[in-house]
Amino acid sequence: MAWKTLDDLDLNGKVALVRVDINVPVENGHITDTTRIDKIVPTIKDILEQGGKPVLLAHFGRPNGKYTAELSLKQLVPALESAFGTTVHFAEDCIGSPAKRAVAALPDGDVLLLENTRFHEGEEKNDKALAAGMGALGAVYINDAFSAAHRAHASTEALARVLPCAAGRLMEAELKALEAALGNPARPLTAVVGGAKVSTKLDLLGNLVAKVDRLIIGGGMANTFLVAQGVSVGKSLAEHDMADTVRTIIEKARRSGCEIILPTDVVVAREFKAGAENEVVGVDHCPDDAMILDAGPETVERIADVFATSRTLIWNGPLGAFEIAPFDRATNAAAAKAAELTEAGDLISVAGGGDTVSALNKAGVASKFSYISTAGGAFLEWMEGKELPGVAALGG
Ligand code: AMP
Repeated sequence: MAWKTLDDLDLNGKVALVRVDINVPVENGHITDTTRIDKIVPTIKDILEQGGKPVLLAHFGRPNGKYTAELSLKQLVPALESAFGTTVHFAEDCIGSPAKRAVAALPDGDVLLLENTRFHEGEEKNDKALAAGMGALGAVYINDAFSAAHRAHASTEALARVLPCAAGRLMEAELKALEAALGNPARPLTAVVGGAKVSTKLDLLGNLVAKVDRLIIGGGMANTFLVAQGVSVGKSLAEHDMADTVRTIIEKARRSGCEIILPTDVVVAREFKAGAENEVVGVDHCPDDAMILDAGPETVERIADVFATSRTLIWNGPLGAFEIAPFDRATNAAAAKAAELTEAGDLISVAGGGDTVSALNKAGVASKFSYISTAGGAFLEWMEGKELPGVAALGG
């Protein structure tokens, strides 16, 4: 791997600028989910143990280049202190004299948080002068914000070109998991792509059919694939105008030797609501007044067989309308099978993307997957085969 890790740096006595993602959800002044803060703890502890001085750089919300009191990072200081178990100091700016003074005054063993990088217009413009201002504060740059790595911003890209740099522990874990899943995977390699629409996942599908051995399509997007093959899907969610695009994807898959797996039976209902009356029908028997809301049991069995004969699995998107029971059954059952195979050491399973994480959490198996990426946009862009500027800069 081209990038360095914390193991490759000598941090003793050095100021380490650490780009983190602590863009946590806040409602009425309370943090409703501290996952992002919890995930950077190993990196901060590691730097402190090495005798380094962590100085955190982060964005918060979308202030569009202007100071916005509600988006000050100061409000996160207590949560960071309890997560790190240290005092966290705060500087009113991420460059200039307030930042310099706070860095100079930082006691050993403590952490310094700098104000929201996005209060500067230059942040989202990847401005070199802003990066130089940040770079002047420290001796090394550590990027631990994989979830922000798809954006070329001053604190995620330009700064990596100013100072010696390395990946933090979270970034390292994410990159290793992704490399194991798609860079150099154990084969057969299977992907599950589900969710609502083909149109939002075109790049994803295009990249995957060229790389994976089997592609399982689920959710609303499977309906669009069925339509492209002349199957009637009644009132189901389907993008009828995407039929040609789907046929192109199917042809690309055929040329690459990628097997596309579609539902053979489906769960249909007349209402989109929890507990709606439903039945299982063959895929070409969806009544005209019904909609497909989940994959059926025969399809789930087939998916389980495909998983059992795969060595690596990469998953984005639910197999059905998983938020409302009983249309979560296929997603839950397939997720449980993937978890069981992973626990037995037979499968490397990597999943990510907003809805996928909540679907796997809901199925109660997220912790059993080899790796769950909470990185949202960055995870999807990586699955689409795009270069992530924040990662590329680390290897430069
Ligand atoms: P996405 O954000 O593209 O991953 O799509 C996730 C959404 O697709 C979830 O809200 C699911 O409820 C929805 N979904 C999955 N399957 C279906 C389906 N057969 N009909 C309608 N919505 C679905």
